[in-house]
Amino acid sequence: AKMENGADEYLFRSKLPDIQIPYHLPLHTYCFERLSEFAEKPCLIDGATGKIYNYGEVELISRKVAAGLAKLGLKQGEVVMLLLQNCVEFAFVFLGSSIRGAITTTANPFYTPGEIAKQANASGARIIVTQAAYADKLTDLKSENLIVITIDSPPEGCQHISVLTEADESECPSVNIDPDDVVALPYSSGATGLPKGVMLTHKGCVSSVAQQVDGENPNLYMHSEDVILCVLPLFHIYSLNAALLCALRAGAAILIMQKFNTVALLELIQRFKVTIAPFVPPIVLEMAKNPIVLNYDVSSIRVIMSGGAPLGKELEDALRARLPKAKFGQGYGMTEAGPVPAMNLAFAKEPYPVKSGACGTVVPNAQMKIIDTETGQCLPRNKPGEICIRGPQIMKGYLNDPEATARTIDEEGWLHTGDVGFIDNDEEIFIVDRVKELIKYKGFQVAPAELEAILVNHPFIADAAVVPQKNEAAGEIPVAFVVKSNGAEISEQEIKEFVAKQVVFYKKIQKVFFLDAIPKSPSGKILRKDLRARLNAGMH
Ligand code: AMP
Repeated sequence: AKMENGADEYLFRSKLPDIQIPYHLPLHTYCFERLSEFAEKPCLIDGATGKIYNYGEVELISRKVAAGLAKLGLKQGEVVMLLLQNCVEFAFVFLGSSIRGAITTTANPFYTPGEIAKQANASGARIIVTQAAYADKLTDLKSENLIVITIDSPPEGCQHISVLTEADESECPSVNIDPDDVVALPYSSGATGLPKGVMLTHKGCVSSVAQQVDGENPNLYMHSEDVILCVLPLFHIYSLNAALLCALRAGAAILIMQKFNTVALLELIQRFKVTIAPFVPPIVLEMAKNPIVLNYDVSSIRVIMSGGAPLGKELEDALRARLPKAKFGQGYGMTEAGPVPAMNLAFAKEPYPVKSGACGTVVPNAQMKIIDTETGQCLPRNKPGEICIRGPQIMKGYLNDPEATARTIDEEGWLHTGDVGFIDNDEEIFIVDRVKELIKYKGFQVAPAELEAILVNHPFIADAAVVPQKNEAAGEIPVAFVVKSNGAEISEQEIKEFVAKQVVFYKKIQKVFFLDAIPKSPSGKILRKDLRARLNAGMH
């Protein structure tokens, strides 16, 4: 066996054998493949009301939604935007849109009107499904031939979700879906620049789910008796993939929680006997450190997964000590990677021992390599470099952005993650740094370029750079280096407020440092490493 750059010792694979992936199936067909077996089993549990929808009902409502979308004029390949907190309707519309042969783009309902407009326009959304509380954020958009639907009592100019969920399923037009058709369009800034539409195809999503839950020894073993907690926002691909798609495939029950709150979460875990809990590091922190956890019976949990952002080894160990019966470990996700390049082998049906701090092993049916960040040469085990992933699950590319796509996926099909890590002797991956600009606040994406564009739009700001600063509670926070315009006077507070008005809470600039000039390379690139080094050297 050979590979480019020499020996195949530089090519890393799962310890699990490859599996058979049904590439040809549309995502919804794949997810509901065992419908006859699961029809009567609980599928979606509304955590707020306790209402349960079984698999048969969810599949039927999804087909109704597909018919309703078509009736509203949505054509195959057109875009529906979901602007929702977690709710059962999220699942109905996502699946219905897939059945229609349409594309779902997902956005954070806490976005400002400006942020929403950018994504709605860039994705070409024709229908937006949201909550009445957010409808007024869409007033600027609404004029333009756009249908707004709310899951609750619709404000003027909006329609009620029943136009979808109560449509006549027999009117659902049959469509021919190509495996390479896009089904999901989450937004991510990737290595550099502004948020971009990440084109995830039916084949890609089917592959990602299969790589985790299919096969004789699934990497992420889930079964139809499992109850999976869906507390992470479904508008992020981590939750959409793990808590919705993987769970559907496995026939598990999905417990939907609208919004994270420690006590409510613990009550739900206890009441519904949650068995699988996908978390992000800030929730792991709560579970590991908050004494209130000890007042609840959480012994039903057999798997706790952390992903979306780096997690310290100490915290991992603290949670293990507190919940010794649950298997706990990290997965590694990235929207563009479809989104799961690596999963923890502790979660396999026949698990492997794993080390604290590792974020998994490359999933089956995929390859990983580590390259030198300067030379691009492949590196051997135990040497840190940029993680690259290749496999059927990765994105098709960025929407309408072939340059950014070419910068991210090379000619050999390798997706360059912008994450720096190494692979040890047991195939375990350790992420140690990030070479891309991306800031992760509690797992949420903050794109420096977006904040820099806002900053330099201020008449008193000549130049700006935004970088992450390490932070206990959030992991990282965005801080700005600012060059004032000649003779202008502007304070840190004024700058913070100027940005805060325009962005969702986690993108707010938390600190401002004034400089005479932003350090840049001869080609004009911001030397972000220098700025990060200044912060580490004690600027606060
Ligand atoms: P997103 O596209 O929002 O899922 O963000 C992906 C990025 O989050 C990755 O490229 C990593 O930088 C980071 N990330 C995700 N999972 C982990 C993990 N387990 N450890 C460290 N960083 C992670």
